Amino acid sequence: MTALNELKDLYVEQLRDLHSAETQLLTALPRMEAAATDPQLKAGFHLHLEQTQQQVNRLESIFADLGVSPGGHVCKAMQGLIAEGAEMIGTQAPPAVKDAGLIACAQRVEHYEIAGYGTVARYAQVLGLQQHLETLRATEVEEKQTDTKLTELSDTINQAALRG
Ligand code: FE
Ligand code: FE
Ligand code: FE
Repeated sequence: MTALNELKDLYVEQLRDLHSAETQLLTALPRMEAAATDPQLKAGFHLHLEQTQQQVNRLESIFADLGVSPGGHVCKAMQGLIAEGAEMIGTQAPPAVKDAGLIACAQRVEHYEIAGYGTVARYAQVLGLQQHLETLRATEVEEKQTDTKLTELSDTINQAALRG
């Protein structure tokens, strides 16, 4: 493990964790989309895949500005969250129950991202990196909107799951 000598080092490390998490999601989201049955849930995963590509680009613009590479750190939490998603994808269940299960996994992912972006946005603020702050906030808003949309979708999908 590399030593962190100042807040900026922690900032870079946390940004690398997010970059690893987002790039892992580029592979996982198409699988979630394929496994979903509800058309709105499917479309939601697809939209978020496109947003995720944009989020990776935003992080890479920040790394370029800092003059450091995005690599060298694996987000183990996202590996675990994606493994739980894969488990759900492979589980035998009626379509609406499966969709509800996919939402359960997806919301855990969004909450992890919201925590991560909230943290680095505050580092950017205290480090006086105003442009980074705005860039990170844009992603944080998307993650929060995705979480809210999943909650709204779960209201109808849970009802369908209840009916069986
Ligand atoms: Fe994301
Ligand atoms: Fe992580
Ligand atoms: Fe997300």
